[in-house]
Amino acid sequence: MRKCGQCGREMQGRSDRKFCSAACRQKAHRNRDTEPRYASDVDLANDILDSTRFMGESPAILGLRPVLRKLIVDELKKTAAKLAP
Ligand SMILES: [Zn+2]
Repeated sequence: MRKCGQCGREMQGRSDRKFCSAACRQKAHRNRDTEPRYASDVDLANDILDSTRFMGESPAILGLRPVLRKLIVDELKKTAAKLAP
């Protein structure tokens, strides 16, 4: 029998479920969000830029990407410094 990916309880029902309840799914999602998922701030900045697809439509805006990437990386560093104990 499959077990819930969050609380480990055994689950009935559909075999493609990963979690026993909506609460467990949300908890797992939150936990995942606190783990570092990017090797570097630049990787994260690139992912943010890629997720804003409208930016790719104009050459002028494409040219802004390196500027935006630097801004994002700088802000990430500032935020990380603020959060550090
Ligand atoms: Zn569960």
